[in-house]
Amino acid sequence: MEETRIQARLRRAARIILTAGLLLLAVGIGVAAFLVNSMIQVTNSQMRAETDEYKNRLTRQISSDFQILTTMSSFLEFTEVEQADNFAQILDQSNLRSDFVTMAYFPTDGTGVVAIPDEPVRTDVRLEDMQPEVQNVVSRTRNGEAALSKLFESELTREKIFVYGIPVEENGRVVGSLIASDQLEIFSDILGGDTVLGGNGHIHMISTSGEFLIRSQDAVVQENMETIFDGPYFSEKETERIQAALAGQETIYTSFRYQGRSYQALLQPVEINGWYMLCVNSMRESSEIYRIVMVIAITFAGALLLMVLLLAYGYRLTRRSNRELHDLAFHDPLTGGDNLRSFMLRLTEVLPQQNDCNVAALNVHQFKFINEIFGRERADRLLRHIHQEFSKRLQPDEFCCRDSADRFFAVLRGTDAGQVAARLNGIMDEICRTALEDTNSDYRVLLYCGMLSAAECAAAPQDINGALTRALFALERAKGNDRNTVWIYDAELHKQEEVANYVESHMHQALRDREFRMYLQPKIDLQTGRLGGAEALVRWIPGNGRMLYPDQFIPLFEANGFSVSLDLYMVECACRQLRTWMDQGIKPVPLSVNQSKLLFFEADYIQNLQQIISRHNVSARWITLEILEGLALENAEKLNARIEQLQKIGFRISMDDFGSGYSSLNTLSHLHIDELKLDRGFLMEVADQGNTRSRIIMEQIVQMAKRLGISVVVEGVETRENEELIRTLGCDYGQGYYYSKPIDADAFTARFWGCEL
Ligand code: C2E
Ligand code: MG
Ligand code: MG
Repeated sequence: MEETRIQARLRRAARIILTAGLLLLAVGIGVAAFLVNSMIQVTNSQMRAETDEYKNRLTRQISSDFQILTTMSSFLEFTEVEQADNFAQILDQSNLRSDFVTMAYFPTDGTGVVAIPDEPVRTDVRLEDMQPEVQNVVSRTRNGEAALSKLFESELTREKIFVYGIPVEENGRVVGSLIASDQLEIFSDILGGDTVLGGNGHIHMISTSGEFLIRSQDAVVQENMETIFDGPYFSEKETERIQAALAGQETIYTSFRYQGRSYQALLQPVEINGWYMLCVNSMRESSEIYRIVMVIAITFAGALLLMVLLLAYGYRLTRRSNRELHDLAFHDPLTGGDNLRSFMLRLTEVLPQQNDCNVAALNVHQFKFINEIFGRERADRLLRHIHQEFSKRLQPDEFCCRDSADRFFAVLRGTDAGQVAARLNGIMDEICRTALEDTNSDYRVLLYCGMLSAAECAAAPQDINGALTRALFALERAKGNDRNTVWIYDAELHKQEEVANYVESHMHQALRDREFRMYLQPKIDLQTGRLGGAEALVRWIPGNGRMLYPDQFIPLFEANGFSVSLDLYMVECACRQLRTWMDQGIKPVPLSVNQSKLLFFEADYIQNLQQIISRHNVSARWITLEILEGLALENAEKLNARIEQLQKIGFRISMDDFGSGYSSLNTLSHLHIDELKLDRGFLMEVADQGNTRSRIIMEQIVQMAKRLGISVVVEGVETRENEELIRTLGCDYGQGYYYSKPIDADAFTARFWGCEL
């Protein structure tokens, strides 16, 4: 159950962590993507602004340059172009007025004219001698279009220049090409590139086919490239996409990777000659941020994974340790079987439902010696053997366990206690037969067993602890036999033992707390029918109010010596009562107090008695000391001496329970007693109609007592007939339930002095 709970908790924790982690991861990735995207957007728009700026500048300059050229060409159309000198002059002047580096005119037939500032105008210049870029422009203008060359280094001026060309027409026919070269400021900016994106980017110019027209010196890719598609920088797919965009003169954003880093780029048409501005953002931040975000995300995901793994590991560990704990909690490490806890759990389940469960407790006779003789290891092996053999012989619905040391418990089925006990005996014999076989010793292992029958178990099916305690009680009883023994639990015996245990453990406290009370039972004068005396009988009323009777504790006190204290205490109570009566003006009756054998021969016995009577200022003649006949058996002389000492002080001596034991007339004749109390059993026998023999003996006893001057009291008078009988026999007093049961002193006073008898 514990494990399921842990599992559920761990699963919940794992779910929460996982969900929270994934959520965080998703949010993180989302935010990162948003940031990166925003950065890309910002960069894109920055690139766009840059390219727009360059494009505008370029467009403006090129169109103004073309404008100048066009104006000049129309002017040339009205000039005699054939007159070379004249033309050269015009050209030179025009060049000086404009900002062009050089100007040239190449007629469709014949040689051309080139004007370079501060230099004499050259004539008869052959087109084939010009640089290829110039030739290219001239040939394009001859097709009637305005043309612009790539940037190239001029052989004439050693400067990076561009060449513009426009056709010069005459009567709608191209007759020549007007060429001008220039050093566009923008081109040098592009080349220098340090103004783009605040120094973090550069711009190239490319043609529709992707060929570099002007390539910035700050290009990210340092390798020589003719077109943007050279090298492995664009994937095949991206190349296709770019080519399609270029063909359609569309603006396109792209990116490429170079030396492990990615760069954003924008291709924007200039709308001149199909040219494109290629703006590259060489800034590393965006990709860097992206990378950082990715690193964070991956670290995060890794941590999450680690956490989940740790959680799973923790779960496994917890499960394992839980299982170990479970094993420890429910298994006996020595035998490998159930321990007491799991045995009790099973018993709790089965006992209230089945009424054929017998609980047995087993022990090995003198196990501690087995431990000493054979050593701990062998002794452990014996315990394992017992468990194994016992388990083997159990039926499927029966079970057993080792509790501790050599104590085992078992549940066996069956409603006939005798049969179950016999089966247990058989099992025990089997176990013992093969026990310690490996030791080659003659040592005979003996087991003993206490069993609580199914009927007893069914009487209190919920009381599992009680069942075990009672089985253990029976086990104690089974102890000490010289063969394997099973003792079936006896409730009555157990109760007695419990009381005995209570008595012995509480007697001192009870005396201190005055739990012992004096009850009085009247002795009635058979001649007058009046109260002739009373016997003080002890009652123990513990805190719970449940009265204990003398036969439950007097024999124990006699055995443990406590009766010495109790009897003196009762003499004290009797004296106190006599004093109370006297102080109340009541004429008291003699009170008899039972005296145990132990007390009677105590050295300071007489002294103690004297102290008590004098403490209460009561004469000894009011106290009769009841002794038992057994006292005389040991030493009649010694007894007589003590009796005489007591009689001298004034005490009367009564012999109690005469006829219950070894009573003999002989004893009677030797003892100097004042009173003889015939045992209740005597009266019962005589009262039995047919028993004339007992009657004769009783008559003899009474007569003999009379002759010896001993008064006779008969105990156990329960009926009028009893009274009649003893009166006829000549007895003096009667005591018994017929008159009154023993009652407490107040009730006694009220009964005998509060009203007439
Ligand atoms: P005991 O001294 O022979 O006392 C008489 C017992 O017989 C009393 O039992 C009394 O209650 C009982 N009894 C009296 N009349 C009848 C009757 O008509 N029918 C029946 N069935 N029983 C009757 P109790 O009080 O239980 O005392 C039992 C014994 O315990 C006493 O027998 C006495 O030996 C001993 N005992 C009682 N109190 C003391 C004490 O303070 N000190 C000592 N040492 N022994 C005491
Ligand atoms: Mg008595
Ligand atoms: Mg008696």
